[in-house]
Amino acid sequence: MSQNNSQSFVATSPLTGKDPREVYPRPPFERQPQDPPGLASKMVPLPDHGEKSYRGSGRLAGRKALITGGDSGIGRAVAIAYAREGADVAINYLPEEESDAQEVIALISAEGRKAIALPGDITDEAFCQQLVSDAVSKLGGVDILVNNAGRQQFAESLAELSSESFDKTFKTNVYAMFWITKAAMSHLPPGAAIINTSSVQAGKPSPILLDYAPTKAAIIAFTKGLAKQVAEKGIRVNAVAPGPYWTPLQSSGGQPMEKVVKFGEDAPLGRPGQPAEIASLYVTLAAAESSFTSGQVWCSDGGSGVF
Ligand code: NAD
Ligand code: MG
Repeated sequence: MSQNNSQSFVATSPLTGKDPREVYPRPPFERQPQDPPGLASKMVPLPDHGEKSYRGSGRLAGRKALITGGDSGIGRAVAIAYAREGADVAINYLPEEESDAQEVIALISAEGRKAIALPGDITDEAFCQQLVSDAVSKLGGVDILVNNAGRQQFAESLAELSSESFDKTFKTNVYAMFWITKAAMSHLPPGAAIINTSSVQAGKPSPILLDYAPTKAAIIAFTKGLAKQVAEKGIRVNAVAPGPYWTPLQSSGGQPMEKVVKFGEDAPLGRPGQPAEIASLYVTLAAAESSFTSGQVWCSDGGSGVF
């Protein structure tokens, strides 16, 4: 028998019923250069990672997640959401991001979930293997892997794009995903989910991101191929393709500062997304309810419709 008693439900988001154009800051923003990888705590305005707004409903109860780049930006929003959905969470980040990471560890712990900090540089294959083995031993297994860490440094021309920078971007965005996924595979049980962070850059490359954009296209091809390969193990593999999101990646050399100050103005919704606004895609892709969804790319770009 159906009931129509809406008063018995509590809205899951404080944004319910609000105009998405108006709920978060719009450009112009202040100039705010940082050295990479940058800190979320130094951004003006501070990004919203869902610290106060994300409300869980047990969708990932009992799950165990490893999230790279979990200290800030999109990865932090995913870590907070996963913990509030009932998962234990391990985050990886660079040692110089310890202060951002400790804020995330405190938020996960506040949910009564296990919070494991695993700093280290994922451009090193041996570290990637150690990362997975530490996550598995400290969480007691892993059944959600989010390959989210990324490097983005703009270069105005091919002449200015060094081989060293090109290599570092591919090591961070593509090789690390390969190394971490390979190391994790033997630990992932049927029902596990892998989620890779791509970008709208995969389909609409910027002229100043000729290393970064191809890494994001590679991530999509890897995701779709791997989804076919590991379907027989009962493992799902998907990607999320963000458009402009307000994170330290952009203000620490991801874009020229003239673009950071108007970041998001081209999106039909007229502003950049806040990390809190994309976490629910990662929750849904990880959740058992999405058991027939694999090999997909889910985009969130404020209305441009790149994918
Ligand atoms: P972010 O700077 O908050 O997160 C990126 C993280 O990558 C850093 O916090 C850092 O911990 C990690 N990282 C970088 N190099 C590393 C290394 N060598 N070893 C270990 N960790 C390393 O920025 P974000 O925007 O949240 O980025 C998350 C993902 O989203 C990235 O893959 C990025 O490419 C993607 N993305 C972001 C946007 C955007 O507009 N912000 C758009 C599309 C895609
Ligand atoms: Mg960071």
